Amino acid sequence: MIARRDALKLLGAGIATAAIPGSGAAEPQFPKGAIIRTVLKDLPPESLTGGATLFHEHLSLAPDFMPRWMSLARSLFPARGGQGNPPARPVQPAQPAQPAQPFFMQDPDLMAEEMTAAAKDGVACIVDGGHPDMGRDLDFLKQISAKSGLPIVAGCGYYAQPFYPPEIATWSEDQIAGELIRQVNTQPVGVLGEIGTWDVMTPDERKVFRAIAKAHQETNLAIFTHTNFGKGALEQLDLFESMGVKPGRVAIGHVGGLSDPQVEVQKAICKLGAFAGFDRQGGPGDAGQVKMVMALLEAGYADQLLFSSDFSTGGNQLKRNGGPGYAKTVTVFAPKLREAGMDEKILHGILVDNPRRLLAFVPKPRKP
Ligand SMILES: [Zn+2]
Repeated sequence: MIARRDALKLLGAGIATAAIPGSGAAEPQFPKGAIIRTVLKDLPPESLTGGATLFHEHLSLAPDFMPRWMSLARSLFPARGGQGNPPARPVQPAQPAQPAQPFFMQDPDLMAEEMTAAAKDGVACIVDGGHPDMGRDLDFLKQISAKSGLPIVAGCGYYAQPFYPPEIATWSEDQIAGELIRQVNTQPVGVLGEIGTWDVMTPDERKVFRAIAKAHQETNLAIFTHTNFGKGALEQLDLFESMGVKPGRVAIGHVGGLSDPQVEVQKAICKLGAFAGFDRQGGPGDAGQVKMVMALLEAGYADQLLFSSDFSTGGNQLKRNGGPGYAKTVTVFAPKLREAGMDEKILHGILVDNPRRLLAFVPKPRKP
């Protein structure tokens, strides 16, 4: 197999004219028996046509998750010599201003209200990218989905090196895969994600990625990843491909963090047939991301793009606090794309069809 860095060199000027832009017009075709697994029930993919499916958000995190995340990220960035992008996540502490109130991701009434508001704003389904090592609570997701009526897909996996539970260090790849398969077979999880490399891929992260690939082969669940602002994106995809995972079942995340007007890495991801995740939207970084998205459209990759906002700390981003809420990809980011000239059908294809193409899977018979 050609190493990605060589594949990148092969991406010449000819590609832009050779690729056929995705029209986003035709209703995607799903294999017979394909479903999207939400926390409350399995849905036919055809049922989620009424709005956007946000493929990477957070509805349930431990109160100390983002403070830990920010402090680890701060210790990482000086090592990069000031290169790269500053953290795109909001830096507010995760605790609300009034200590008497629960953390918003542990307040089912508030979160159900936020889900109802997101649905009104054009969201049909939200994927939660958490799992137990991030403090994700499946019962909480079920509760807010039931209260609001908004379908929610739960993730499954292990996040990234600084957040791994201790057993990852000692378990073999097959033991990790076995545990993931056990979770898929006993819990209403609908996707493997978010699975991350915190910076340069560590041996443990490589082990987890290989285990994820094995769990994918056993369950058919799609995979979406976390990268450090796009770093190692092609290495992640290489690893999955080397394990026999079809790129069309993988979304590589946070590639909007690669501020490259030539979008070389994103083009390489799309050319291989994987999805490129522009998944931290609706904020001050939008202008640069709009340019990169439009360049990828120009290159013919409308069918390979995914948008979401990775909603995490931002208590001030909630509707209740006067912010745009969970639908900001639809209400804040999408209008900027229209203004940049994106056709409505293409936008619909990216927001409504592409995430369903990623998430829809035919369940495999469960092994005893
Ligand atoms: Zn995330």
